[in-house]
Amino acid sequence: MSTRLLGKVAVITGAANGIGRVYAQRLAADGASVVILDRVDAGDTVASITSTGASAAAFIVDVTDEQAVTAAAAQVHSQFGGADILVNNAGIYPNQLLQDMTLPDWRRMFAVNVDSMFLTCQAFTPHMRNRNWGRIVNMTSNSVALVIPGFAHYIAAKMAVIGFTRGLATELAEFGITANAVGPSLVRTASTEAGPAVFFDIVPQMQAIKRVQTPQDLAGTVAFLVSDDAAFLTGQTIWVDGGLIRST
Ligand code: NAD
Repeated sequence: MSTRLLGKVAVITGAANGIGRVYAQRLAADGASVVILDRVDAGDTVASITSTGASAAAFIVDVTDEQAVTAAAAQVHSQFGGADILVNNAGIYPNQLLQDMTLPDWRRMFAVNVDSMFLTCQAFTPHMRNRNWGRIVNMTSNSVALVIPGFAHYIAAKMAVIGFTRGLATELAEFGITANAVGPSLVRTASTEAGPAVFFDIVPQMQAIKRVQTPQDLAGTVAFLVSDDAAFLTGQTIWVDGGLIRST
């Protein structure tokens, strides 16, 4: 447990499962009051946090639904005083070849992975602006730089996340708000375990660190990005992927 996020309210989307659950646990352990927005019940995540004495709550929200996101922001404001930290983690990654993909498939990919971030950022940043302090972390993926069939819609959406994050950083800096993206490699979650097992053999061999990534491997970076220590870091994409992709 640390106290570096004491007094902060952290909204995390998609934290009923997988990576988001570990983010929620970590930010709560650092002292934040965590509020989860997920389309499914996040009671297990909440219980895992409150059992440690830390603070957590969850609302069932489809983050592609504008009215639901607006209502959730109003609820967070009235119950918790507003969000200081927003971690846009909810996402989907169905593997579909271009020839099998329908327009609704394409639109669903963008709705969950990109439109949701637009909606949450619009809904939650007014409070951050009023406080002159805020932190936004958006989830992208190192697959944007890899050769993976069946991911044209996913790669396009996760590239859009990077662009949106840069735009956010530019517009929100004057209000003390930073926005950064985090891009993992293949992370072991229940959802990725439901996919082809062979990926867990192949991908780590391409990384400098040759083991399968876990959600815990990401949590420290996100905890840093939402802290005061990262006050001058904005508009960046941090590749937390075991050294797989590189940029100059
Ligand atoms: P997951 O499937 O384990 O969990 C995703 C969570 O998001 C679930 O709780 C789900 O209910 C929620 N969610 C989905 N659609 C939603 C919606 N419309 N409204 C509200 N909640 C919704 O996923 P994960 O593996 O933990 O991935 C989390 C994020 O990390 C995603 O953005 C994903 O693209 C990204 N990512 C994952 C990996 C990986 O290998 N797991 C790699 C790179 C990036």
